[in-house]
Amino acid sequence: MRKRILVTGGAGFVGSHLCERLLIEGNEVYCLDNFFTGSKDNVVHLMANPYFELIRHDVINPYHIEVDEIYNLACPASPIHYQYNPIKTIKTSVMGAINMLGLAKRVNAKILQASTSEVYGNPLVHPQPESYWGNVNPMGERSCYDEGKRAAETLFRDYHAQNNVKTKIIRIFNTYGPKMHPNDGRVVSNFIMQAIQNQDITVYGKGKQTRSFQFVDDLVEGMIRMMSTAESFRGPVNIGNPVEFTILELAEKIIELTNSKSKIVFEELPSDDPLMRKPDITLAKKELDWEPKIQLEEGLKKTIEYFKQFTEPKNNDYEEKSISYRRSTDHENAA
Ligand code: NAD
Ligand code: UDP
Repeated sequence: MRKRILVTGGAGFVGSHLCERLLIEGNEVYCLDNFFTGSKDNVVHLMANPYFELIRHDVINPYHIEVDEIYNLACPASPIHYQYNPIKTIKTSVMGAINMLGLAKRVNAKILQASTSEVYGNPLVHPQPESYWGNVNPMGERSCYDEGKRAAETLFRDYHAQNNVKTKIIRIFNTYGPKMHPNDGRVVSNFIMQAIQNQDITVYGKGKQTRSFQFVDDLVEGMIRMMSTAESFRGPVNIGNPVEFTILELAEKIIELTNSKSKIVFEELPSDDPLMRKPDITLAKKELDWEPKIQLEEGLKKTIEYFKQFTEPKNNDYEEKSISYRRSTDHENAA
């Protein structure tokens, strides 16, 4: 029988890939989104499928629907977007979690939380295992996101402990791929857009900070595997690619793959920018029989191909588009 699956944040970068994959597997998919950073363009190709429904809704308000599973992804993920309205960001994580956990409780659905490596903050343990409690500043520019996601994890733990809700938590490490917004502000989309237009590549700080980049298809596989684990396994579990690069190495790799004439320029490092990040994926290997299959060069090539469309003259209105949709959703995004 078809499972009925709700994906909050389903019109975003990761959510749209997840909706597509869940439909391919024969499920009925309800994609719920307020279109703050996501877009109908990401899911328009799914609209003709009778088992797909797009719902405009904000997760800070309760929502009722009969489903078997919920993937809770609604939350802006790029620092420029989650810092745009920090009060709204923390409300999205905390009230969104309460509303979706309440729904899961009422309809007896399994629910998976898209948590983040940011719960480790600027880590003092490297690589980061799930047992590490993190080093997070509660009073900084990233706090609205980091602390919101940490509180959401606590809510998942407590709804299970108190109400026996069937919860799952994954901690996602930096993920990239097609359908990232070209103006998203995250490092992979910034560098590729800059490189293919031969503009300066903006490395923040000295570029010595590290990240471990996972291609989106590997993440989606990990999410689906986590959802289908035994009820007793609730995580949290790290989902990321453990191959670590400095940001400078990433810039050089993207220049090489795009044959770009771009120069690297150095800009100020944002506050609380973690110095290093790399997942320990021992638990995911053991419990999900999962590890990433797509390494950086292969994933970057696919992503570069996707971004090339935005440099063609007929499509280069993406900046205007992104500004106007943000204006049109500003009232909805008010705290
Ligand atoms: P994204 O910004 O592309 O997608 C987030 C989606 O949530 C968007 O479609 C947005 O419109 C929607 N949304 C935001 N606030 C909402 C609200 N109040 N109500 C309803 N919808 C709302 O980001 P993404 O990269 O696809 O991230 C998806 C999830 O994965 C997020 O929860 C994020 O924290 C988590 N995550 C992503 C990464 C990554 O590297 N991509 C890393 C760690 C965690
Ligand atoms: N970064 C950069 N140039 C950019 C965008 C980001 O050097 O144009 C750096 C950023 O300072 C951070 C890393 O790249 O150290 C990853 O940034 P991103 O915003 O993608 O994600 P984060 O892991 O910081 O949430």
